[in-house]
Amino acid sequence: MNYYNAHTHRIPDNHIGIYQSDAEYTASWFSVGVHPWQADVQTLSEIIPALHHNNCRALGEVGLDRLKGPSMEIQHAMLLAQLNLANELQKPVIFHLVRAWDEFYSLIKSRQHTPWIIHGFNAPKQFPRFVQTKVFFSLGPASLQNPHMQSILSKIPLNRILFETDDTETDIYQVYRDYSQATSSPLEEVNAQIEQNFLAIFGA
Ligand SMILES: [Zn+2]
Repeated sequence: MNYYNAHTHRIPDNHIGIYQSDAEYTASWFSVGVHPWQADVQTLSEIIPALHHNNCRALGEVGLDRLKGPSMEIQHAMLLAQLNLANELQKPVIFHLVRAWDEFYSLIKSRQHTPWIIHGFNAPKQFPRFVQTKVFFSLGPASLQNPHMQSILSKIPLNRILFETDDTETDIYQVYRDYSQATSSPLEEVNAQIEQNFLAIFGA
């Protein structure tokens, strides 16, 4: 069985994953993007060569963070420029979002032309509105440990879920197992559907 990791800051060894790169190329699949915290210090030209590399499977992590980083104007401008690139290059997008759900919702309506993934989804109150869209929910250790997430876990359609370890030391297998236990879903069924989701998004 393969365990697919949609977002990790460590180069995956025993599984298939999307490594979060700092604009360097790696032998494994990776994502690259200007993080909202860096929107005032990093430029688009720094990531463009890596974005064109064949192993680059997604633009990310990009997004909006109201609690950290430069002003929302600066973050928003950088995000729009990157979304244009993602659409041009047909890349999926991995989002980092903190308290910017309205802005994100209107971007879905106006800009989404590729698969979009909310990484580390941990905002149960936002679930009802985003389940109506086509975004994917990437669940990590923090998502599965949040008691307020427990009630929505079974409501997220399995064909809209990905798993990730982000910057933690957790084994991706543990995330699969925790989800499977929390939702009483057989691990093999979970595994088969996540594989399909992951490869449809990143394997194209
Ligand atoms: Zn991350």
